[in-house]
Amino acid sequence: MVLNITCIPGDGIGPEIVAQAKKVLDKVAAVYGHEMKYTDILMGGASIDVHGVPLTDEAIATAKAADAVLMGSIGGDTTTSPWYKLEPSLRPEAGLLKIRKALNLFANLRPAVLYDELAAACPLKEEISAKGFDMMIMRELTGGLYFGERKTVNENGVRKAIDTLTYDENEIRRIAIKGFDIAMKRNKKVTSVDKANVLDSSRLWRAVVEEVAKDYPEVTYEHMLVDNCAMQLVKDPAQFDVILTENMFGDILSDEASMVTGSIGMLASASLNDTKFGLYEPSHGSAPDIAGKDIANPIATILSAAMMLRYSFDLDKEADAVEAAVKQVLADGYRTGDIWSEGCEKVGCTKMGDLLVERIQ
Ligand code: NAD
Repeated sequence: MVLNITCIPGDGIGPEIVAQAKKVLDKVAAVYGHEMKYTDILMGGASIDVHGVPLTDEAIATAKAADAVLMGSIGGDTTTSPWYKLEPSLRPEAGLLKIRKALNLFANLRPAVLYDELAAACPLKEEISAKGFDMMIMRELTGGLYFGERKTVNENGVRKAIDTLTYDENEIRRIAIKGFDIAMKRNKKVTSVDKANVLDSSRLWRAVVEEVAKDYPEVTYEHMLVDNCAMQLVKDPAQFDVILTENMFGDILSDEASMVTGSIGMLASASLNDTKFGLYEPSHGSAPDIAGKDIANPIATILSAAMMLRYSFDLDKEADAVEAAVKQVLADGYRTGDIWSEGCEKVGCTKMGDLLVERIQ
């Protein structure tokens, strides 16, 4: 099979971690008889430096022509980088919002898994972490507060900022369907998270989720308020299978879930549209503090590449092989600095990529 993949190395550690993911994909191609065709595009700060904008229309066209997009990360140090002196629509993150919208990537999937070997890095009490957890956070990605109208006005000498949170029932229905579909492939449980005791958008969310749930009699579902969910994630994360939620709540809850796994460097993500097309990227940012030092953890990006094999190309065997290699490398005692603990061998970004390549058979 020929896999046409657009790559966005991006900024900071992005180019380092994408290089490792490409190495792993190349090994998968060699072992399973596929051909990887990569086309790189610029986005974020890297694009601002060359084109003056965080994402060009040509780059979007290249991404659209591919089967899937594999991304590192974009952005710089938000207090010192000159990119953040530009007006908001020209900053690195605007490129990310633009590509999500252009590719209609409305469903964001973030798995949060506690690996046995990393249980010591989990900040939760041992009696909680001992139960383990394996959840998928499904976040709506192209609506809600981050895409609503916003402005800052001056009223009688007082500055006032306004952001609007809007959802229509179609936006809610399509993400709910994705959430229930994913639950059918997992443990058949959906926790829909909202703030229905306060927000109208949440009350509509709840109503539409209930309509969609009727088509999935095998899936058990529950509603949970977002503040309770934030607590439950640290109190009893094992209760969750699929967490289905809107854009801003998902942004915050997925970061919290990432912290309870012990390392942000392990967390993959996928953003999907209605077809097989998806954009795959680690959940973490561009980590400008460690860029260029060859110490970043490439595993989140490599696990994102595994999700790409599974969801965009239906190559489940190949995805399983990548995930098994990650488990094996951890079992063999190799760690990057962010997940290192006493008794393990500390390795850099490139070395971790090499070790994973060796373990894909
Ligand atoms: P960050 O995720 O980049 O870094 C937070 C901390 O985690 C840092 O200490 C960093 O060194 C560490 N870290 C992150 N990834 C790591 C990895 N793979 N291995 C080892 N350590 C890792 O978050 P931040 O510092 O808040 O943001 C930095 C930049 O990234 C900002 O410009 C932000 O806007 C951007 N960002 C981009 C994305 C994206 O591209 N999707 C997502 C989040 C943040």
